[in-house]
Amino acid sequence: MCFAVFKRICSWGPLVALAIIKLITSMTLHCCRNKLVSNGIGVTDPSFIAFMIFSGLTLYHFINSVYEGPGYLPYKWMPENFNDVKYLQACNFCNGYKAPRSHHCRRCNRCILKMDHHCPWINNCVGHKNHGYFTAFLASAVVGCCISTYILINWMITLLYMRQTFPYQFPSVLVLFLVITSIGFSIGVVVAVGMLLYFQISSIVKNQTGIESWILEKANYRRSTTAEEIFVNPYSKGWLFNIKQVVSWHCTAPGNGIDWPVAEGCDQYTLTREQLAQKYEKRKRARKYRVIKKATGSWCPISHGFKTLCSPPITDETRIKLDVGDLVIVTRWRNKWLFGEKEGVKAVVDGKDNRVRGWFPRACAIPLTERPEDNDNDASNMHNCALDDEVKYLSQNTSSLSKSTETDPVSNHSKKRKKDK
Ligand SMILES: [Zn+2]
Ligand SMILES: [Zn+2]
Repeated sequence: MCFAVFKRICSWGPLVALAIIKLITSMTLHCCRNKLVSNGIGVTDPSFIAFMIFSGLTLYHFINSVYEGPGYLPYKWMPENFNDVKYLQACNFCNGYKAPRSHHCRRCNRCILKMDHHCPWINNCVGHKNHGYFTAFLASAVVGCCISTYILINWMITLLYMRQTFPYQFPSVLVLFLVITSIGFSIGVVVAVGMLLYFQISSIVKNQTGIESWILEKANYRRSTTAEEIFVNPYSKGWLFNIKQVVSWHCTAPGNGIDWPVAEGCDQYTLTREQLAQKYEKRKRARKYRVIKKATGSWCPISHGFKTLCSPPITDETRIKLDVGDLVIVTRWRNKWLFGEKEGVKAVVDGKDNRVRGWFPRACAIPLTERPEDNDNDASNMHNCALDDEVKYLSQNTSSLSKSTETDPVSNHSKKRKKDK
């Protein structure tokens, strides 16, 4: 277990995060020590005490986010009642079914309980078990960096205005550089991590993960053109209840991460049925393309023109190499780019994702079949793409499930409220 945690930490994300924590902490302590030695105010300085507490909490919650992990769905997991598998998606990598709120993470190569997102800074997913620790880590980092920014800027102001009679030991150029760098990092953490913290708090209050937000947005978009009722989050049971599902003094979440309390009128599979219906629609939208010009897999494909170069998809998803004659199943459309999966590649080899899928310039391929809604209308395409982004989290479904959804993909949606008219 300890080795696994060590392995997780030995990646660029956690190492950079730890280096930033270390730099800010040591520089803030250096400035505090200056102040303490010169003023003789001792360790009772409130900003010093507060910084030490939040610096310790940041490190504690960071390590626990990695150590605890998000919680994994057991391999070959099946629902207790076998008849319920028709409401679930299969995971070809874990050889089982995905429990409600679980998703397969391609980076962790496991199905994650209540998956929120994969965070490169902890080199792990944020999910059922570490959601509390992760949120506490963000909160402590933001508060700690607010205090360190105050201490460091205060020290710099004293240095600038009292150059001749600077009361502390005059700093070397290296120390000055490190203090200025630390101020930059501290402000950066307050802004960037503060925004992430805002989204996490919003997600906790709604009891709705980042992935579920996409599913719900898509669910309501599907209904926007029909008289169907609005789809509501089945896991939201009031803000206080929702908060208690994640936030507690010991940062551990209640429940087993598989069975969830649901709102009145919903059942365990309300959301998974909607996911299956969306999957079914995605499959209907997919179109086959033939590659007529080689795609290099480059993030900056200069040879495909200025417009393609200047309008890349804003995502870290891979860009794929394609040869002339390759067939690609396209599921997402941008103005100058397409997202698709190369046909004829075995999806799973030795439990690993072997699929060749990603973005490539639109000019490289021609459609073999027309999409009914295929046009260059930016707004329409943008919306399709935004909604389709959620699907990237969902791994391949089995043909048997496909059949079950094709018969009646939406009939079982039980929790609805009347759409405002
Ligand atoms: Zn899986
Ligand atoms: Zn992951």
